[in-house]
Amino acid sequence: MIYHSLGKTKHYVSFKEAVIRGLAPDNSLYFPEQIHKIEIKNFPSQSIYSIAMEVIKPYIGPYDIPEKILEEIIEDTLCLPFPLVNIHKDIYALELFHGPSMAFKDVGARFMAGCLSYFRKEESKPITVLVATSGDTGGAVAKGFHKIAGVEVVLIFPKAKISRFQEKQLSSLEDNITSLEIEGTFDDCQKLVKEAFLDKDLQNKCALTSANSINIARWLPQILYYFIVYKNISPSEAEVFFSIPCGNFGNLCAGMLAAKMGLPIKHFIAAINSNDTVNRFIKTGKYALLPGKYTLSNAMDVANPSNFTRIWHLSDRSFSKLKEKLDTFSFTDEETISVIESIFHKNGYMLDPHGALGYLGLQKYFQVNSQNSRVLGIFLETAHPLKFTEKIPYDLQKQIIIPEHLKKLLKSEKKSVTLPNNYPALKEHLLNRGM
Ligand SMILES: *Cc1c(COP(=O)(O)O)cnc(C)c1O
Repeated sequence: MIYHSLGKTKHYVSFKEAVIRGLAPDNSLYFPEQIHKIEIKNFPSQSIYSIAMEVIKPYIGPYDIPEKILEEIIEDTLCLPFPLVNIHKDIYALELFHGPSMAFKDVGARFMAGCLSYFRKEESKPITVLVATSGDTGGAVAKGFHKIAGVEVVLIFPKAKISRFQEKQLSSLEDNITSLEIEGTFDDCQKLVKEAFLDKDLQNKCALTSANSINIARWLPQILYYFIVYKNISPSEAEVFFSIPCGNFGNLCAGMLAAKMGLPIKHFIAAINSNDTVNRFIKTGKYALLPGKYTLSNAMDVANPSNFTRIWHLSDRSFSKLKEKLDTFSFTDEETISVIESIFHKNGYMLDPHGALGYLGLQKYFQVNSQNSRVLGIFLETAHPLKFTEKIPYDLQKQIIIPEHLKKLLKSEKKSVTLPNNYPALKEHLLNRGM
């Protein structure tokens, strides 16, 4: 499969090169040149591994990764439960937090770690993975890449802007994992990482890549969530709606790609917090950036979402085509807390602040648009509520049981380094660690 960059001058690469580069030389994102179609009628009788192979294989040529190895990577990636849990009536939570970091990014991180672990055998330079994280990517990447030989990982996160649990997850491992706290926002971290990718001095020393959803190997496997759901539901019986809590918009974009590949998804709802750039764009047609805000759903505190260019490309750069498929709603922290409380008391289900927004998105959409046919509303529950306990009222916190092994994590020592928010400081740090 060939990938092209989404910048002004198209740049063509193989899957392997797209993964190792992360970003195209013009600083834009890669996208598959062809989108293939999938028949879903046999899904109920197939295993999730065989569905996943059918969906993913055409995007990764046999020259990039031999089929046998790809099968192993898929098995290692997907050996997790992905339950679809009924909340009430036709509303379901697709729980994506049953991996080691307890947030949905484990699937992408594990898949990418598998690919790099294979690619590095042919690379002459050491591979360094540089990641800006608003909290959950860091944990997933740290777990997914820990002790993978020949791959160094540097995680960059905004100081004091992530939950205690997230901070421990990404700063308590050592070996090939380093974490840096930046005195700034997530968008500042993302900007620093993009700057590093364009830096020839660093590029000369090592193969530098990202493990954010800008990286095709982190982003692409997320299409699998949507396909896996269709193993258990029958779209002929109801129209299927997906509501996705969005930050960098990778997950939503993966869903939209799955729909292009033939999944019968009626409509998407992007649920966002008060970092509402895309919401304002959909309502006004103007893509105007405002400074990042801190919210309860901190993994979604992204003011300038990288994957929006992929979504825009998928919609043929047409505002009306985009609106046909997508509605967006933005919600406040007060609304988030209030829905966590009410769903817990009424339905006995504990939402996390991110999934709560997904639920609110569905609820709002169905309020505004009455449906004639039977509907199935699915929101992605992207993290375990435990990751964000300190953010919710104390009487709810008490209801969450912390497993023993996680208590140990919370007591572990933080091993990160603080850096100011400027590129020379980061560059110096990266060069001096002997990369
Ligand atoms: C990363 C993250 C999101 C946002 O996902 P994107 O693909 O960046 O839009 C939502 N919820 C949680 C818990 C996350 O970790």
